[in-house]
Amino acid sequence: THFGFETVSETEKASKVYQVFENVAQKYDVMNDAMSLGIHRLWKDALLHVMHPQPGARLLDVAGGTGDIAFRFLEYVRSQQERQQRRAVSFQQTPSWRDVSDRYPDGGGAPESAVVVCDINKEMLKVGRQRADSRGVTTGLSWVVGDAEELPFNDDQFDLYTIAFGIRNVTHIDQALKEALRVLKPGGRFQCLEFSKVTNPVLERLYDVYSFQVIPVLGEVIAGDWKSYQYLVESIRKFPDQEEFQGLMEDSGFFCVQYFNLTGGVVALHSGFKL
Ligand code: SAM
Repeated sequence: THFGFETVSETEKASKVYQVFENVAQKYDVMNDAMSLGIHRLWKDALLHVMHPQPGARLLDVAGGTGDIAFRFLEYVRSQQERQQRRAVSFQQTPSWRDVSDRYPDGGGAPESAVVVCDINKEMLKVGRQRADSRGVTTGLSWVVGDAEELPFNDDQFDLYTIAFGIRNVTHIDQALKEALRVLKPGGRFQCLEFSKVTNPVLERLYDVYSFQVIPVLGEVIAGDWKSYQYLVESIRKFPDQEEFQGLMEDSGFFCVQYFNLTGGVVALHSGFKL
C-alpha cells in the first residue's frame, strides 16, 4: 500500500498515519485554518446542511479527530429544536390550532440527539475533549478510540455516519465502508467529505503549486513538521477520484450513491444509504 507516495507495508502505513496525527494533534485546528484559509469550515457546514439532522438523530463521526463535525451536529440539532419549539408556541397562540399544540406540550418532545466521535488516535480525541470542555458541551457527546476498519459498535446502531477527511488515511477503504454499512440502521445515511480531483485545469495548476510548495512550508513554520504535511498532500493525490469512490461505495452495498463537488472538486461530498 502507500503512505503518501512511498510504498510501505500495510502495518507500516497504519503506524505512520498514527504518528502523523499524534505529531499534529495539538496544532491540528490552527493548521486546518491556515492551510485551507478557513475554507474547511464551509465544507463542514455544507456537510451538515446536506445532512439536515433532526432532533433525536444518532450520529457516528468516524475519524472524527478534534470534533469539528460533532460540534456542528449538536449546534445544528439544537437550532432545529429551537425552531420547532418556536413553531409550537406560535401554534398555541393561534386559537384554531390550540387542539393540535396540546399534543405537543413541550414543543415536539423529540428525544435527545447524540453523537459519538470515534478516532484511532488518542491524542486527537484528547484535544477534542478539551475543546468540548472549553465550549461547555457536556451532553450528547462521547469520544471512543476505535479503528474505522473494525468499529467497536454493534450492528444497526446509528441513523447517520460521517467521515470527514479521514477515509484516505485508512488502509483498507473497502473494509471501512463495510463497517459503516454494518453499524448504520436500515435507512441510515453515510456521508464522506474528502479531498478529490479538481475539475478545472487552471484551478488544478494553482492547487498543485499551493499543495506542494506552500502547505509543507506552513507545516514547518506553524507546527515544526514538514514531513507530516507533505504526507497529507501526497495522500490526497493517491485517493480515488469522485467516480471511483462512488463505485467503491456502490460495491460495498450503499444505495442512492451521489456526490457533489465543493470548491471545483478540491473536495467532494459523497452520500449513500443503507437499505
Ligand atoms: N474529521 C476531522 C476533521 O475533519 O477535522 C479529523 C480529520 S484528520 C485529517 C484525520 C483523522 O483520521 C485523524 O484524527 C486520524 O487519527 C484519523 N484516522 C486515521 N486512520 C484511522 C482509522 N483507521 N480509524 C479511525 N480514525 C482514523
